[in-house]
Amino acid sequence: MIQKRNTPILALVLPCYNEEEILATTYKELQRLYTSLLEQSLISTESFILFIDDGSQDATWQCISDYHEESQYVKGIKLSKNEGHQHALLAGMQWVFQKCDCMISLDADLQDDPQLIFEILKHYQQGDEIVLAVRNDRQNDTFFKRLTAEWYYKIMHLMGVNIEFNHADYRLLSQKALQFFLQFEERNLFIRGIVKLIGLQSSKVYFTRNKRILGESKYPLRKMLSFAWEGISSFSIVPLKLITFLGFLIFMLSTFAGINALYIRLFTNDAIPGWASTVLPIYFIGGIEILALGIIGEYIAKIYIETKHRPYYFIETEIL
Ligand code: UDP
Ligand code: MG
Repeated sequence: MIQKRNTPILALVLPCYNEEEILATTYKELQRLYTSLLEQSLISTESFILFIDDGSQDATWQCISDYHEESQYVKGIKLSKNEGHQHALLAGMQWVFQKCDCMISLDADLQDDPQLIFEILKHYQQGDEIVLAVRNDRQNDTFFKRLTAEWYYKIMHLMGVNIEFNHADYRLLSQKALQFFLQFEERNLFIRGIVKLIGLQSSKVYFTRNKRILGESKYPLRKMLSFAWEGISSFSIVPLKLITFLGFLIFMLSTFAGINALYIRLFTNDAIPGWASTVLPIYFIGGIEILALGIIGEYIAKIYIETKHRPYYFIETEIL
């Protein structure tokens, strides 16, 4: 089954959530790409495109079935409900394992320029087991997204989390890399972080990320923030999050109260002797304590989630 390295069975893996608007465009583009990859003998004829329907409520699954009717190399799996991008991607990665020599994951909205695949495959042919597609700028992002993303990478770096700057989930994994990857069993999934833990010979290719042309982002600010936190703590439970939030709030308030107390003590004559030195530590320690408790709670919540060993997802139907 394993072919020579220079003509691999390639699996393109695309998670889709309510993408009916853009899927036809994506399909056409990938169809063209698939044909020219075949013509140039860069991939073998057993290569395929796997769409993962992440519990869409629109006609996404119908579209995938139609494309399969037209092109047998289009395959699909449908998850029983919306599990989120990372779990949908994992479902795809587990599904393609041992069905391909290498896989490339990309978004279904064509923001990850498919033309880059030629270059990615070149790196694979030269022996790289992992090829990361890295954005060379963020010009097509809103100012806000650019700023938050930059800060996010900085904070992750400060926290000792090793992730590639401006790399999301557009990447190639060889079968070996995929096999290593799948040995990580965590529910609190942050795929780009795990990929960095695998090792193996890897390389980067650069691209400009397109704007989404149709449909809307499935990552509104709320999801973006929550995904960001996932990377640091991997997961959390809402009540525990609230404690952290409360702790932060109290910490901020007590900092202001502390500054106020200090101001009264230093610059006015209203201070009662001993007052500032009594209330300052109370404000300060109180805030820090609750914040610390909240953070500890976040990690306990992670342990709680992991110990359950819940299934990641259910594949309701598949198109082979
Ligand atoms: N996606 C998914 N499940 C979700 C949310 C998103 O499978 O719950 C898919 C989505 O269809 C797309 C990819 O993940 O193919 C990236 O999502 P999106 O384009 O909305 O994110 P953005 O590019 O705005 O960060
Ligand atoms: Mg997108």
